[in-house]
Order: sequence, then C-alpha cells, then structure tokens
Amino acid sequence: MVDSENIVTQLRSGHLEVDHQLMDDDVNTVIVNTCGFIEAAKQESIDTILHYADLKSKGSIEKLFVTGCLSHRYKDDLQKEIPEVDAFFGTMELPALLARFEVNYQHELLGERSIMTPPHYAYLKIAEGCNRTCAFCAIPLMRGDHRSRPMEMIVEEAKSLVRRGVKEILLIAQELTYYGLDLYRSRKLGTLLEHLASVEGLGWIRLHYAYPSKFPREVFEVMSAYPNICNYLDMPLQHADDGVLHRMKRQITQAETLDLISYAREKVPNLALRTTMLVGFLVRQIASLTNSAILSNR
Ligand code: SF4
Repeated sequence: MVDSENIVTQLRSGHLEVDHQLMDDDVNTVIVNTCGFIEAAKQESIDTILHYADLKSKGSIEKLFVTGCLSHRYKDDLQKEIPEVDAFFGTMELPALLARFEVNYQHELLGERSIMTPPHYAYLKIAEGCNRTCAFCAIPLMRGDHRSRPMEMIVEEAKSLVRRGVKEILLIAQELTYYGLDLYRSRKLGTLLEHLASVEGLGWIRLHYAYPSKFPREVFEVMSAYPNICNYLDMPLQHADDGVLHRMKRQITQAETLDLISYAREKVPNLALRTTMLVGFLVRQIASLTNSAILSNR
C-alpha cells in the first residue's frame, strides 16, 4: 500500500492523472504492484496481471507494467509466461518505472505520498528490508537488507500526516524491532516511539510486525507512559515448539517467548496481542515449486 501510494505521488508530480484502484474503463496504462510473500497474495497478483494482459490483448489498454515483490523475484519467468506485459520492475526500480512515463524520481516527495487509506489513518514505514533468515520467508530476497529510515525523517512524515487529518498511524516495516541497529548501532524503536508520541495531534500509534527475538523491552515502558501509543502489539510468533522454531530459524525459544509475553503483560496489563501462527511448515525449497505452481494456472 505504501509503495503504491509513493508510485501514485511520483506519477502525479509529472502531472499525470493516476488512480489507485482496480478498474477497466477509461485507463490507457495499468501498473500492477504485486506481492510475492504469501500464496494467496501471489495468486491474486498473477490473476490481476492476467486480467490486464487479457485487456491489453483485446486492445482495451495500451500499456501494462508490473512492479513489486513478485516481479522482483520472478521477473525472468514472468517475462516468458506473460509477454503482454511491457516491462517488469523490481522493488528497487521505481526510478526506472517512472522513466517509462517520462517522470523523474524525486526523493523529497517520499514524505508526501498520496494517502489511499480512509482519511483518519495511514501507514508509516520506518524501515525497509530484513536481515533475518526465517526459513519460510522470501522477503529478504525481495526487499534486501534492513535499512532504517532516519528518525527525524519519520517524525517529519508523521507531522505531515497529522496536518493532513490523519489521527492514527500504523508503524510498519518488515521487522519493526530491528529499527535503528543499522543506522544508530542500537535498537531505537523505543526512542522513535517517544518522539512520535510527542507529535501534537497524533491520536493513536499502533505497532505492527514486531519480531520477538531480542525485542527491545523498553518499548513496553514507553507504551505504558504515553496514552497515544495503543496498548496493542502485532507480534508474529509463528510457533511454540523449540524444535520447529529452530528449524524455522526464528532465533527464539518457547521459554524466551513466554518470558517476553509475561514481561509485556506486567508492564502493559491490558495489552492486546495479535499474532500469527504458521501451520504446515516444511523445510524444503518451496520457492521454485511455488513459482511453477502459480504459472501453471495460466
Ligand atoms: S523477520 Fe519477518 S520478514 Fe524477516 S525473514 Fe523473518 S518472517 Fe521474513
């Protein structure tokens, strides 16, 4: 969503008329921003590309471009399988995509993206990429190493969102709790939260995608100290069995997980904890199998 919002903003800066939604009428060019993470999202991406490839074959649209994670990861296969697409772009090729529209990439527009969510909330990306090696996850392959955004840039973006009427900010990254390690040599999520909580007019801050291993525990103190930081944490645990956690390369044990949750509940007694649990985990190279399974649906 945030990446699409950025694409739209950059294109609009070149005075192009751009919308962010699925539609078949009155468009001459379509950009499909794809996901390559979970199976359902991959399939939705492929179905959407095929839908517009069909429209292009019928002459209903002139150009079709594909970007995002699926495109980054499977570019070569997709090019062969869906020749109707004019060009595929990887996750770090936004300037090349914009060049197709004769629009120059403008870094300074990063904090001014067009908000496509309902007006009272917006996502705020604090970092990109991931340094973990979870056995089931291809995100590091598609998004590269973790890169934290400078704290002052994030705070400025939050202020800009509040000025535009946003009441709730949802903090996101591939891995929220790693924030700062690359840039400041220590985990800085707690400090960042303190700065964000002090932004005037910001009603709610909500934390998503908090990896549990080496969790910066001061976050819970900050959470209980500032009323505008929601007592809510989205922390994917994935499993509770030590052997499976080890095979998943999650770098945490069941005892450490329980200790972290106890600590969190002690500091923030009414904490709402959202999690995901992975079932059917197999240690194997699923990437190529998944790829061929998707393409064979054509
Ligand atoms: S921490 Fe999250 S994004 Fe990073 S490899 Fe693990 S599951 Fe993937």
